[in-house]
Amino acid sequence: ESPVAVLCSGGDAPGMNAFLRAVVRLGLNRHHVPVLGIRDGYRGLVRAAKLANVDSESLVRLKQEITNNPGKRGLIDSQQSIIQMDHASVSGIMGKGGTILGSARCLDFHKREVRDSVVKLLKDLGVRALVVVGGDGSLTGARLLAEESDLRIIGVPATIDNDLQFTEMALGVDTAVHTLVWAVDHFIDTARSHRRVMVLETMGRESGDLARMAALASGAEMVITPEIGALTAEKMAAYAEEIEGAMTRGRGHAIVLIAEGVKFDPPQTRNGAYVLRDAFQNYFEREGAPFQDLEVRPSVLGHLQRGGHATPGDCILAARFAEEAWKSILNHDNENGITALQHNKVTIVPFGCEDMPERAETSSAMDRLHDDLASW
Ligand code: ADP
Repeated sequence: ESPVAVLCSGGDAPGMNAFLRAVVRLGLNRHHVPVLGIRDGYRGLVRAAKLANVDSESLVRLKQEITNNPGKRGLIDSQQSIIQMDHASVSGIMGKGGTILGSARCLDFHKREVRDSVVKLLKDLGVRALVVVGGDGSLTGARLLAEESDLRIIGVPATIDNDLQFTEMALGVDTAVHTLVWAVDHFIDTARSHRRVMVLETMGRESGDLARMAALASGAEMVITPEIGALTAEKMAAYAEEIEGAMTRGRGHAIVLIAEGVKFDPPQTRNGAYVLRDAFQNYFEREGAPFQDLEVRPSVLGHLQRGGHATPGDCILAARFAEEAWKSILNHDNENGITALQHNKVTIVPFGCEDMPERAETSSAMDRLHDDLASW
């Protein structure tokens, strides 16, 4: 039976392991198709392709070792690039953050000839489909493979940024929101005790979705996203004035979320959390008593948002994506595509498909909802 190969690429996201478990178990238990795991994303594929190219014997060995040693690591090449997954290799991994296969960035994959060598390797190994789990960049690489070859390629969106406009949710988003709610809860304790304004910077690349979902779920008083346009000194002063107003009405603290993608006018090289801190602090100092002593503390939350135990929501979505990926692989229409959540249903959309217009609407509806819920 010709195998299906799976890899995780780009930024890691909680839910990747739950997906690997589901895709392997469905392959073995339901469809009786073997699954190969590729380590370190495209880099692992490129490594194995180079090896097979230099030493054609190694390809024969690779095939034998893959088939004869399910679940074993370290047999294929010194860097364990390709392994055959068995039941045990995905045991106990469901909620674990990161990915047991490892993920990586691979600049070489931007080159056509490198991608061609990978296609050749996969064909030589008799792989019937490649499943790529990752974010925007990884799915672009997958689309190119699909366009340039007749291999079956299925993409699975996994990124905490929720910046993919064809799916309501990517794997990892639910967990990252959960982590941010936890973080806000911790910052509130100190903000409240010290009458502080906390400015917390969230991930999300160009998108503000992670920040606005976290704001809605945590009750953070203010959320600033890239979608509102570049922040000028006037806009920042208006935010500070809003905080001042709340403080005057007796409010003791504030949590402000700022998405990493927020731009400034004029442009700034520092993290947004620091730029905003300075703007707020200057404003409060200028205002004099009783605001001049108000402390503003910035924090760039960084990679803690990418880790942690996957939430039940992510584990369930991972299982649903895996089922849809198999459906598409076994379907004879030879359509390539990406699993997606649209109108709360799991489906496959073609590579390079149009954005869902509803996504932007949902985002602005969430902004309005947050504004009204966080009246303070
Ligand atoms: P993410 O998938 O999380 O968005 P990256 O943008 O870093 O992460 O992409 C991950 C990998 O996908 C890159 O290191 C590269 O190997 C591959 N990739 C990204 N963009 C392209 C592209 N335009 N062409 C080919 N491969 C790409």
